[in-house]
Amino acid sequence: MPSVLDPDLRRALAERVRYCHEMGIYDFYRREARVAESAVGAAEVDDLSSTSSQRRDEEQREEMSAKKSAAVAKASSENLLEVLTPRPEQGVADPIAALKLIREDLGECIRCKLHKQGRKQIVFGVGNPRADLMFVGEGPGADEDTQGEPFVGRAGQLLNNMIKAMGIRREDVYIANVVKCRPPGNRTPERDECETCSPFLMRQISVIKPKVMVALGAVAAKNLLAMNASMSELRGRFYDFLPTGARSSDPSWPGTKLAVTYHPAFLLRDPRQKGEAWKDLQMVMKYLGLEPPKKSE
Ligand code: SF4
Repeated sequence: MPSVLDPDLRRALAERVRYCHEMGIYDFYRREARVAESAVGAAEVDDLSSTSSQRRDEEQREEMSAKKSAAVAKASSENLLEVLTPRPEQGVADPIAALKLIREDLGECIRCKLHKQGRKQIVFGVGNPRADLMFVGEGPGADEDTQGEPFVGRAGQLLNNMIKAMGIRREDVYIANVVKCRPPGNRTPERDECETCSPFLMRQISVIKPKVMVALGAVAAKNLLAMNASMSELRGRFYDFLPTGARSSDPSWPGTKLAVTYHPAFLLRDPRQKGEAWKDLQMVMKYLGLEPPKKSE
């Protein structure tokens, strides 16, 4: 970006920043996604349940469109504009207090159209505010909308089993979604909804500072990585991930590793893919030094 901006461009940028600020977006950033490590290991998750689900099978559809989208995925370096303005939680060391400030800033949000499409409540996120591991799904379903907590339905039960198989508990991790209101009929959240809501997720990530994030499903993965690629291309590796507003020069947190695996709802539909999901989780376990629980535990 040139050091001296055209006055019209400067005015337009200032207007844009002011507008985004009103929307709860406090920063713009450059996000880089780089391959860092390869997947390892293979085993079956033997205690995962295997029943049917009402959810869509987007992962399968994505597998089929792999080749077309690959080129787009490789060119995802984006948004070179970097403007940092203070956020309410900035400088708050306690992550519990910082998350509370973000939740207050979100308020009874009407920033995107999902607020008027039948949501019962906003599903902010749940778990350990100092978690080393964070899971991110695409959006709340009916059970989550009713209970106000992500991943509490049957897919949530499966996620709990996946977490348990990693030798940790649900309370040890943090769980959130790209959008915080239920899309009607469990449809996929639309691009404008994801773009409007995800800055709040980015702020949550910046506060929690996980060592590893796992994107659950193609929608979450594509939104976090700004990549349009198939699940087969997205899985099996770590990406370096730094959320909006987090400074790459921050010595306390260089960012997180991001892995991609199947959404639990998809695994309920197609239990044959559980072995593949377990490979993804084993890659995460190896990085975090986690051991699966002993059989007697
Ligand atoms: S999905 Fe997010 S941005 Fe849209 S209304 Fe709900 S909280 Fe607000």
